Amino acid sequence: MKSYRSHRIVTETEIVDGWLSVDDQGKIAAIEATPSGEPVIEYQDHWLFPGLIDPHLHGFMGWNASKTTDAEQILHMADALLWAGVTACVPSCISSGFMLENVKALHQAKSRQTQGAEILGLYMEGPFYNPEYNGGTPIETFEKQTLERALEYMEAAEGDLVSMGLAPELPGAMEIISELSRQGVRMGIAHTGADYNQTIAAIDAGCQMATHSFNAMRGLHHREVGVTGAILLDPRIYNEINCDFIHVCPQMIEILLKMKAWDKILMMTDNDSMTGMPAGDYLLDGVVERLESNGKIVLEDGTIYGSGRTLLQDVFNLIDELKIPVPQAAAMASLNAARFLHVEDRLGSLKAGKQADFIVVDDQHRCLVTLQRGIKVCDIGQRSRLANPEFAKLKIA
Ligand SMILES: [Zn+2]
Repeated sequence: MKSYRSHRIVTETEIVDGWLSVDDQGKIAAIEATPSGEPVIEYQDHWLFPGLIDPHLHGFMGWNASKTTDAEQILHMADALLWAGVTACVPSCISSGFMLENVKALHQAKSRQTQGAEILGLYMEGPFYNPEYNGGTPIETFEKQTLERALEYMEAAEGDLVSMGLAPELPGAMEIISELSRQGVRMGIAHTGADYNQTIAAIDAGCQMATHSFNAMRGLHHREVGVTGAILLDPRIYNEINCDFIHVCPQMIEILLKMKAWDKILMMTDNDSMTGMPAGDYLLDGVVERLESNGKIVLEDGTIYGSGRTLLQDVFNLIDELKIPVPQAAAMASLNAARFLHVEDRLGSLKAGKQADFIVVDDQHRCLVTLQRGIKVCDIGQRSRLANPEFAKLKIA
């Protein structure tokens, strides 16, 4: 048994000044005021956070999970995520001419995985979206919403499809929502112009989540509150939210946090292959994407695309700027996703009996060390080993 000393161990409810001990099976044995194991590893003033869980991202550090048919590329992304303190994730596909092959590659990556941020399943971003709310995704890749096609995708994922977003107002959507929900897929409301009643009908039919709340969806109007009003009001809905303060302004996040129970909030990043890479213009599959130094990723027409900020940086946005208590901010980036994905018995928080997945964080918000099952799997010095060496060639300015 090993013990880790820190003045700031972030549990589900408080910040503990004490020792976190890990047993020989890699589980948390205790968090207490005295060390119960040897050796004692000193992290003193550094934070110990639970390993973060990102329920929706597309790439990281030059690796792409959404525009690839290569499972190895996805596994490299999972390795690189450890550097950012993410110990489990749900990579997302995106509408493309080869989405079915992308789904298969994600399934293969999950089945083959032996290391890296644990892939908990895959998320389908599209192809059943409202073209008026495409949010940067090329509309020619959207497909007609039929149950038959949705089941084809589900079959290709071989049991690994954990969530799917779609626009509930389009013909055929309700049938897909009912059937896939019945089969255990968490259905998300996404890229949509649905009105209030259509959204409530979709929730009644089984939708459990609002995909990147407020982005690529109809806004609030005082005589028709629309999808935005419905996902703010309905307590059944989990709200994915991008807290980079670029996709959604801090005030809108405050409104969300006042309207919804904090355990319904799922922080997500929409991270892209450019996240974690040097700022500049990159030519990706014939499209110029710009990563700005503040983490903003934009297409040539100015459309905000993925986020160049990490989940850990976003957690500190909530702590430092919105004054959210640290345990709650941490839970919105770990425990809530673990609950949503039904893995909270082993992941998502620093609690006796759970897997010892945790990260050591300094006051500059950097993840210094990442541990899974009590074993150090990454540290801050490993960035250059983990980044995709080929990606630099795509930088054009
Ligand atoms: Zn996305």
